[in-house]
This record gives sequence, structure tokens and C-alpha cells, in this order.
Amino acid sequence: MLMSNVLFMVAGLLIGVAFQGGMFLFLIPVAGIAVALGYMNLPRIPGSKTSSIPVVTRAMRATGLAPAVAPDLRNAVKDESTEFNEPNSTLKVNQVWARANADVNKAMTDLLQGLKRVIPNAHSLVIFSSLSSYKEWGIRVYSADPSTQIASDVKVTETSGLIGQLFNMDVERLLEGDLSGGKSLLYYIDNPMVKSLVAVPILDQSKNRMGALVVDSLYPNAFNQATVQALTHIASALYALYYKSFVSAKNFIGQHQFSILYSYQHKFFQTMSVKDIYRQIFDYVKQNIPYDRMMLLALDKQEQIDTRKEREGSVVCADGIDCEQFNGKRFTLSDKGLAVLALFQNRPVERFFSSSSSQYIPRIDNRENKNMDFRQLFVMPISTDNNAGQAELAICLESRTSGRYTEHEMQLLKAFAGVAGFAYARASQYETKKDEAIRDGMTGLLNKRSMPEALRTEKIRADRRKYNIGVLMMDIDHFKSVNDTYGHEIGDVVIIGIAKTLMNEIRKDIDIVARFGGEEFVVGLVDTTPEGMIETAERIRKAVLQLEFEVHQASPLRVSISIGAYLVTPEFNDNMMKAVNFADQALYKAKEGGRNQVVQYTETV
Ligand code: GH3
Ligand code: MG
Ligand code: MG
Repeated sequence: MLMSNVLFMVAGLLIGVAFQGGMFLFLIPVAGIAVALGYMNLPRIPGSKTSSIPVVTRAMRATGLAPAVAPDLRNAVKDESTEFNEPNSTLKVNQVWARANADVNKAMTDLLQGLKRVIPNAHSLVIFSSLSSYKEWGIRVYSADPSTQIASDVKVTETSGLIGQLFNMDVERLLEGDLSGGKSLLYYIDNPMVKSLVAVPILDQSKNRMGALVVDSLYPNAFNQATVQALTHIASALYALYYKSFVSAKNFIGQHQFSILYSYQHKFFQTMSVKDIYRQIFDYVKQNIPYDRMMLLALDKQEQIDTRKEREGSVVCADGIDCEQFNGKRFTLSDKGLAVLALFQNRPVERFFSSSSSQYIPRIDNRENKNMDFRQLFVMPISTDNNAGQAELAICLESRTSGRYTEHEMQLLKAFAGVAGFAYARASQYETKKDEAIRDGMTGLLNKRSMPEALRTEKIRADRRKYNIGVLMMDIDHFKSVNDTYGHEIGDVVIIGIAKTLMNEIRKDIDIVARFGGEEFVVGLVDTTPEGMIETAERIRKAVLQLEFEVHQASPLRVSISIGAYLVTPEFNDNMMKAVNFADQALYKAKEGGRNQVVQYTETV
């Protein structure tokens, strides 16, 4: 068997192995050199002048290698031109591409260097690859004699002289043996006397011309058909190099995105707080998805009492352009905004807005600022149950450039939404259960079990900051007769009405209100004075007197309450239940004194 055939086979094998995976990519240049060596060992075609040209020592000197303005690797593979535009990503996507580009350039440079050594007549070797389209190439790498100046930023199109001919689908190769007629090569600045040229296109899977491999010589008839064949093989290996690097960069990014998702999954499961989940969703989007404005919408928790009521929600966070107007904004599911629509229908919503359009489509409702700067909107619902009619949360992303949200971003957000929905359901159920355990089902007030702990916690804070806690113990007057006269159901309505009145008269989220027994309530007034405590107690008593309950009789039902009060000062060192007991003793005095009154505990009570 001929030596050249053996070398071609070796090259074929190497390319085959290289196709198996990214880590074997380095074999491609090796394969290229094997092809070149095979070519060198081909029997000389009779009559070819090439064999008579002596090996010039100049070409054996170190070659001048310069990094060219490398066209982006992503331009090379058009059928999968997904954009990975995540500028703030913890995964620096652009860096991954830059590294893949650098790897390709390094492999190509090595290849050219090797080729230059086995094609001694070569003056310069250049690899072109497509820039923004297949219709335009730039120099990716070259290997040139140091005495020569190359215009590395040159652009080649189909009208660019000799090399431009390679854009023509009918031209499979160029083999010029005598350029003494004066054809100059456009990539030279100093225009050396090039006499021979061989060039082959680099084809992608669909036979598109994505670049070219060009070798020239200062000698006439320096190359023959064998050179062309060798370069054709190498051009095909070059495409493999492009393609495999592109795919491996893409996989690398995919893996990173997966690991980011995984790390968020981990974070999600470290919390049982709905507020933390909101923050983590916000963080993820901010870190990984580009936007000019984003908001997170959340429905309020479904009230157990009234399921017929239309559900409401709010924008729990917003970021970016003109976001202030949305932060905290309330909405109902009947609002017609695009973000609300995604939530209401539990499906992603995507919209493009043209710059010429004058019609504004609201994001939440008609009252918002009509900002016409946005070109693309994408809303991803997050649901706790895929079959649910509506989603509980939605991420709304807006961009001032269109085409920013591609299939890639949507898939990424969809995967994230799945994880987030699961975590949200878990935290929300936990909070509901916790709430149920500490609250009274009928009134929503703290229950008898959780009240002592609430008072104790508040007492610790009061001791540190040196303030008083007013403890009120109250009981509805003659409540037995309410039940006896109007029935238990009306009795319940009265209890609920009084609970609401208590909530209205105290400072929400500061004071403590608990249902202590059937028709008894305990209030803890945080940071009050002796006068303040009595004033509040009187205010509550009077507010209850104003309540009217419809009992289908000539006049509505009215009730009164009696209140016992005890002021816990910082000097009070006892259990808070002792204070409740003092207030209860005062309440007893109030009942004794004729009901519908406030009595403060004194030593003599
Ligand atoms: P007083 O002025 O002395 O407080 O007279 P009263 O009739 O209100 O006496 P008491 O406070 O002892 O009455 C408690 C009654 O409250 C007994 C019970 O029937 C009623 N009650 C307790 N819990 C509930 C409840 O959840 N719903 C209803 N409808 N009634 C309740
Ligand atoms: Mg009672
Ligand atoms: Mg009572």
C-alpha cells in the first residue's frame, strides 16, 4: 500500500474519533497534518513542474503568526444560531464563547503552522470564515512569512477578485499556477509577487460556503491536484472543528444553566417563607435573564371564608425602567393587563410592539403610564398546580429591543418556573398551616394557645426598650341571653363583629389581639401609657356599643362589653399570664360594677 494512502486512512480515522466529542478536538489539526503528509507522499504527477521547485529555506523559518479579527464562532453554524444573551449572568456566557473562539483559533493556527512546514513552497496560508452572513468572509487566522504584511481585517465578498470566485457554487476549488499576469491578492498590504494560488471552500452540512482555506506561493506552478485534494480534506476537518466547538460551547452553557437552576432549587428548599421565595425568584431573574423592566406578580392568599370573591393580587417587586409605578400595585384578576392575563389564564404571554404603533396595551391596568419604549414582553406564569385554572405568580419581562427573548430564555424560565412553583406551594402551605395553628378559625385572631407566647415575646422586647404593655381582658355582657334569644348563629356573628372592631381600633401588626375563650378577648397594647391604655379601652368599648346586628326585628341588636385593664411596666418581672389574670380580676369588678365599663386593676381590686 502506498504511504500516502496509509496517511490518508490515519487522517480519516483521526477525524472520525474527533467527531466523537469535544475532548478529541485536538486530533483535527493532527489529522490535517496527516492528510498533508499523505499529499507530500503522493507519487508526482508526470509533467508537473511542482516537483522541480526546490525547498526554500526561507519558508522553514518561524512563520509570522498573528491573531486576526476573528469572526464569531456562532456565525459559523447558522442552523443553530441561538442567542445566549444573558449579560448579568453569573455564568458569563460571552466568556464561554470567547474561549471557544480562542480554542478554535489556536487549533487552526497550529494546523496552518504544521501545513506550512509540509508545503514548503507556500508563502502564506489563510483561513477565512463567514462574518455576519455567508455572503461575507473575514480572515480568521493566517500563517504568513514575517516579511509580509497581511491586512487581517479584510472582508471578502463575491465581487472580491480571485478569492471572491469561491462564493460561486460552481467553483469547487481554485488552482492557479501562473499569476504573473498581475492578479494581486486582496489580503496583502505590500502586494508581494504571488505566482501560484490554491483555494478551497469550507462547507457546512448544507453545503453553504462558510469560509475558505487559501494557500499561495511566490513560485509559479507551486501546487497541483494533490495539493487541492489535501486541502479539501482539511477544509472538511475545519468545519468539524467549528461545529464541534460550537456544540461543546453550547452544551457547556446548558450545563451551567442547569447547575444554576439546581443551586436555586437548593436555595428554595432551605426556606419555608413565601417572602424568601419571592426574593429568590427576583434574584434568579436579575442574575440570569436580561430585561429592561421586570416585575413579579403574586395573587393574595385565597381567603377560606369567601371563595366567591374575585381574587386579588399585587406586584410584589419591580425593577428597571419606570418600575416605581408598579411596585406594590394592586390588581384583580379581571384587570385586562398582559401580565395579569398570563396569571389569569396560567399560560405564557409573548408580545412584540412595533416602534410605529401608537396603541398601548396595559401590563396591569389602564391607569398605568403608557411607556411606548418597549419592543418585547414575555410573561411566564408560575403555578403550584399545572392543571390549575390560574397561576399564583407570574414573572413579567420587558425589553426595549425585540428578539431578546428567544426560545432559549423561554425554556430556561419555564424550567425555573417549575422549580419555583413547587417551592412556592410548599412554603405557602406551610405558612397556611402555621397560621391555622396559631389563629382562631372563626375570627382570624390569635388563639388561646398562641396568645401567651405572643405576649411573652413582646415582653422581652418591651424590657429591652423600656416600655409598657397594656393588657386588656374583655367579655361580652349578657351573651348567654343573646344566644338564647337569637340563636347560636347570631351569637357567632356578634363574636366576629366584635373581633373586627378590635382589629380596627388597635395598631395592626403591632398590638396583640387574641380570642381567649368563647366570647372573651385579650388585647396587648404595645408601648402605651396608663392614660393611653384606658383611652384605648374606652374607645373599644364605645365602638362595640355602636355596632348594630341585623336580627330581622324592628330594631337591630346591640351589645356591650366589659373590660379589665392591667399595665405591665418594665418593673413587672412575673409571667405575662399573671398580668392577664390581674386584668381578669379587674374585669370581674367591671361586671360587678354594672357591666359596659372599663376597670383598671389596683392592689385593692
Ligand atoms: P356576663 O355579662 O356575666 O358575661 O354574662 P354572659 O351571659 O355573657 O356570661 P358568660 O360570659 O359566662 O357567657 C358565656 C356564654 O357565651 C356561654 C356560651 O353559650 C356563649 N358562647 C361561648 N362561646 C361561644 C361561641 O363561640 N358562639 C356562641 N354563639 N356563643 C358562645
Ligand atoms: Mg364569658
Ligand atoms: Mg359574657
